[in-house]
Amino acid sequence: MTSFAEATMGPRGGTAPRLIDGFGRLHTDLRVSVTDRCNLRCTYCMPLDATFKPKSELLSFEEIERVVRIAVGLGIRSVRLTGGEPLVRKDLHILVRSLAAIEGIEDLSLTTNGLLLAAQAGDLARAGLSRLNVSLDSLRDEVFESIARTRGLSEVLEGLAVAKRTGFRSIRINAVSLRGLSELEIVPLAEFCRREGFHLRFIEFMPLDAERAWSDVRVLTGEEVRRILESRFGPLEPARPTDPGQPAVDYRYADGGPDGDGGLVGFIDPVSRPFCDRCDRLRLTADGQFRNCLFSTTEWDARAVLRSGGDDAEIARLLLECVAAKRAAHGIGSPEFERPARSMYQIGG
Ligand code: SAM
Ligand code: SF4
Repeated sequence: MTSFAEATMGPRGGTAPRLIDGFGRLHTDLRVSVTDRCNLRCTYCMPLDATFKPKSELLSFEEIERVVRIAVGLGIRSVRLTGGEPLVRKDLHILVRSLAAIEGIEDLSLTTNGLLLAAQAGDLARAGLSRLNVSLDSLRDEVFESIARTRGLSEVLEGLAVAKRTGFRSIRINAVSLRGLSELEIVPLAEFCRREGFHLRFIEFMPLDAERAWSDVRVLTGEEVRRILESRFGPLEPARPTDPGQPAVDYRYADGGPDGDGGLVGFIDPVSRPFCDRCDRLRLTADGQFRNCLFSTTEWDARAVLRSGGDDAEIARLLLECVAAKRAAHGIGSPEFERPARSMYQIGG
């Protein structure tokens, strides 16, 4: 049996990172879903009558910590916790503390809908979480509710206020843009983020909704959102990427923003401008499956290895196999495109 050290050995015997796929892409970012449950039912993600995996099928905190530690040994540097809604997983800060202690992780972040953030922001920050992404598509109750199919806007805003006071290094707002729904939300969201110092990013609607209502007609592209912003705020100037692997293209408001420091607004355009050529992401689902793409139709079962007494080298090998099998691109829009069986909340966005 190969030892962990051998499995992770570089070509000349060094311990070089090896999460490089057949197209030369180096993987340094791992998205870890901690649950498929959620306290919202966003139309673009979950069905109203969602059913969830039994708890026994979800990885325990100890299992997640072990897999992440092995992935870090293979070159993962950035870990993001997601779901479902990660804050519905009890005592998430305990997991955050154990992950923050892993040497080699340079960036530990969380994506949340923000509903439970006010109560947990302090514990999460103290546990070592460095960055927060909060999803927010509208600042109007009725639009929020029509998308999320649950009330909750005031809780999200309260969560953001508490997180800001708690002193997170960076708070991003993610907004999915949907044609026929988002057009009037764009400028108010931008004004709010400029005022509060939040980094706003618009994400194109992807074919990962459980109700399978996606069609390219419903995709309000990043380019269209940018034009709406420019008609209100004037020109946006391309900003230097903070991270070379980042899928978002960021812009700076040329008017300097309300307090003169500019502020950033970004666009994640997986449908109109796929960024597969620079993708550095891997995923671990809440039930312990490695995926090499949001749109992957194959999974690598880490939970089976963990629960059958497999050693670290076996898990490392599984992750290497997952990376080696990564396709060049997701192929949305091509005749060969095949939607994965899982929807966004079951993968971890
Ligand atoms: N519940 C958390 C939240 O909403 O932030 C974390 C999980 S959620 C699946 C992660 C991100 O995926 C959110 O920003 C959400 O808006 C986005 N998302 C969900 N379904 C999507 C879809 N079909 N297309 C584009 N983005 C989507
Ligand atoms: Fe829940 Fe996030 Fe999906 Fe909305 S996008 S249903 S908040 S997991």
